[in-house]
Amino acid sequence: AKHAGKDCYRVFDTSMNEQVHRMNAMREALEKDLDNGALKLAFQPFFRSSDQSLAGFEALARWEHEDFGFVPPDVFIPLAEQTGLINKLGDWALREGCYIASYWPPHMKLAVNVSVPQFQQESFIERLENILDETKMEANRLELEITEAVFADNPEAVMEKVTKIKRLGVSFSLDDFGTGFSSLMYLIKFPFDKLKIDRSFLQQAERDESAKKVLQTIARLGEQLKMETTIEGIETAEQLQMVSELNCTYLQGYYFGKPQQVIDIGRFIARDVQR
Ligand code: C2E
Ligand code: CA
Ligand code: CA
Ligand code: CA
Repeated sequence: AKHAGKDCYRVFDTSMNEQVHRMNAMREALEKDLDNGALKLAFQPFFRSSDQSLAGFEALARWEHEDFGFVPPDVFIPLAEQTGLINKLGDWALREGCYIASYWPPHMKLAVNVSVPQFQQESFIERLENILDETKMEANRLELEITEAVFADNPEAVMEKVTKIKRLGVSFSLDDFGTGFSSLMYLIKFPFDKLKIDRSFLQQAERDESAKKVLQTIARLGEQLKMETTIEGIETAEQLQMVSELNCTYLQGYYFGKPQQVIDIGRFIARDVQR
């Protein structure tokens, strides 16, 4: 038994080393590709639920590496956060997104995801202002998406920062709403403009009447708090039918449009301009 235990330990140890090795290799590759301009943004449209007109696009980072292949953001964003690359990656996503969106029609919004350590940098506001200047992007067309995790540490400082950034004209969405553990008090106190309701609620609501009530309640809560709401992850006509009874502001999901390369979003914009 002792012997087996030792072997087990060794197997575990080796795979740990391999994991660390792979993580370091990936970090290096990610930084290199960031510097080379090999990361891309995909853009997913979102629509007003009132008339299904195009309201804007959410920028989502994409990384395809020559050896690692397509690495999903759920892998490389946490990697970047853990290895200190997130500020560089975050600056890139903001700059690239703003640069591209600065050419869109004047009413069209750009939503950019901001990760917690990125937001918490002391220099975040200054960097954001520089990027807006450089790209000539109007601040009131930019939405920053942050998650409840941002409240884990010093919520007063977060509040102060959010308030300052909102003074620039930039708006805030609370992403993945309902999946975290922060108290509803934050919601009421924080000046968010929009709640993005996590797609797990929609998936449950299809099968479960009480989950549907939760969706309805969140939509109403948003209304009462003067916040807009987005239902994410609409994939089917049946889901669209179901959510059309809920009074939310925006709709987003594969049913309407997948995240796509910048050259492919023109048709959404052209169709909107024709309306
Ligand atoms: P998120 O911000 O919640 O983005 C929504 C995710 O759901 C995206 O996954 C999107 O492709 C996917 N999605 C959209 N509609 C549907 C649908 O109808 N069905 C299904 N099954 N999925 C749908 P993606 O692009 O893989 O991104 C995953 C997460 O990675 C994002 O979640 C976000 O948290 C993070 N992320 C992506 N790009 C960036 C970035 O530039 N910066 C930061 N900080 N995080 C990013
Ligand atoms: Ca998001
Ligand atoms: Ca989300
Ligand atoms: Ca997410």
